[in-house]
Amino acid sequence: MHSLADSKAQGNRLYFMELSRRECIELLEKIRWGGEPQCPYCGSRRASPMDKGLRHHCNDCFTSYSVTVGTIFHKTHVDLQKWFRTIELLAQQPQNITVRALANTIEVSKDTAASMLNRIKTLKREDPNFLKEICLALEKRNNKDN
Ligand SMILES: [Zn+2]
Repeated sequence: MHSLADSKAQGNRLYFMELSRRECIELLEKIRWGGEPQCPYCGSRRASPMDKGLRHHCNDCFTSYSVTVGTIFHKTHVDLQKWFRTIELLAQQPQNITVRALANTIEVSKDTAASMLNRIKTLKREDPNFLKEICLALEKRNNKDN
């Protein structure tokens, strides 16, 4: 069994590029909302940008929210960049990723890596299209960069 680092050395293509937090959020917003913020609490589309557009304030129910509310990425204390990288790695080599390898690759604890793998597995079962759209968006972006 070889590690992720080995497969990279062997030239297997890993779809990884450094996305900024903003790019990750914009990518998710495009997938979930078509780019137009929608309040997860009341459904309103009337929003004002907060934190330079990384969060939104609902002009109808006055709560603030980000695009991760209601997704597996919410309240995990793991950067979206690390989530997206994990999703890419899983898409590329689902068999090869152990908890330990993932923890080393994205620099999180083994507990966190295990919990991320579980959440992604659940998402794959419950909302495969959402996961697929994330993969497609990442792949498209990666191809554009090369
Ligand atoms: Zn609202």
